Amino acid sequence: MKYFIQTYGCQMNYSDSERLTTVLKKMGYEAVSAYPEADLIILNTCSVKQKAEDKIYGLGEPFEALKRKNPNLKIGITGCMIRKSTGLRGEVKEKVFRIMPTVDFVFRIKDLIKLPGILRKLHGVKGAEDVEDLCDYFHINPTIANITQVFIPIMNGCNNFCAYCIVPYARGREECRTMANILDEVEKVAKRGAKEVNLVGQNVSTYKPSDVDPDSKESPFAQLLRKIDAVKGIDRIRFFTVHPKDMTDDVIDLYGELPGMVSHIHLPVQSGSNDVLKRMNRFYTVERFKELVDKLRARLPNIAISTDIIVGFCGETEEEFMESYNLINDCKIDLVYVSKYSEREGTLAAKELKDDISKEIKRDRFDRITEVMKRISHEYNQPFLGKTVRVLVEKIRKGYASGKTSEYKYCRFLSDDKDLIGEYVDVKVDQAMEWCLEGKPVATKE
Ligand code: SF4
Repeated sequence: MKYFIQTYGCQMNYSDSERLTTVLKKMGYEAVSAYPEADLIILNTCSVKQKAEDKIYGLGEPFEALKRKNPNLKIGITGCMIRKSTGLRGEVKEKVFRIMPTVDFVFRIKDLIKLPGILRKLHGVKGAEDVEDLCDYFHINPTIANITQVFIPIMNGCNNFCAYCIVPYARGREECRTMANILDEVEKVAKRGAKEVNLVGQNVSTYKPSDVDPDSKESPFAQLLRKIDAVKGIDRIRFFTVHPKDMTDDVIDLYGELPGMVSHIHLPVQSGSNDVLKRMNRFYTVERFKELVDKLRARLPNIAISTDIIVGFCGETEEEFMESYNLINDCKIDLVYVSKYSEREGTLAAKELKDDISKEIKRDRFDRITEVMKRISHEYNQPFLGKTVRVLVEKIRKGYASGKTSEYKYCRFLSDDKDLIGEYVDVKVDQAMEWCLEGKPVATKE
């Protein structure tokens, strides 16, 4: 029996798919690389935008054709589009069943341990009984797709209810993984050669596991970072994402102290206007965001800061938009992930606010932020010219080896040596473009 998983969205989903892969392998399924070869298709979905959901609904017809060719084909959906239930068509109710008659089953990702039971009923397959005995899906060992980009979930769900966001409805309230369980996974990937780990969670700042040290004066997340930093072989730690209202000073203080803390942080501001932040239910001010940026730069002057900005949120005036635009310059933000507001059914904004900014204005604001971002990225990359940066090589493509620097800058150099993947290479930068540095290796392989 053959399977194909299609993953959409954020790192959390990609990390979840690695656990999903383990379950399917335990049940004897073999991976294939395209829909038509599969007997089992699982879509791990994203709901951040309506467009993302529409993409899934658009697969209804092609799936009908595939089912005509292969009557044994079963189709399942998980991820953020599955809000309420886990089970087979006819057993439970979910909107996708109504819109996509070809879907056979759905499961909330936190119910992944129930998947073997579902597949046993559908395909008569055996295996993965041990998965059903686990206390939660975090305890399933992931099948790591790329050892140079390891994503380790430390929590699932969110308690924040930002007005525009569907995640708390899709993933439920915060559930934290124990430190012991996380460390076990970090040690395993380190033994397999991982040098960098990316800790993922909707709001890592509020990480609070059951096995926190009650005598420690540090926040649980700071304690976790210390422990991971001590794992042999791991020398880069990144995390996604902190919430500006919850970020603690003790985590900021670890920059410059722990060798593993990279020179980069993603700090999502979402808007440069206090009024918009209030409407977004973000519970911090622009001043608070700036204070965090100042503290981080005081610890690590060259730290690269990336952020998220939503343009065209309900009622956003031109003046409010300009506050976001100016904030990027004021705070010397290295990279902005900009998105146009998209109303999501069921969220606070959909219930209480009007999505009253036209598509054209959203597009225009998106383009203006992107334009300023290009200029700033180009400008901020110039100081790297002539400098030597350490690149952790992730891939070889079209004659180039490429990976990221500690500052999360993408850097490439000419090479087709596949043995470099997962290794550090020191590269002397001779070109600094908008989104990329380029140079020549000064030393290959450590
Ligand atoms: S913090 Fe806000 S934006 Fe982030 S997942 Fe939670 S509700 Fe969504």
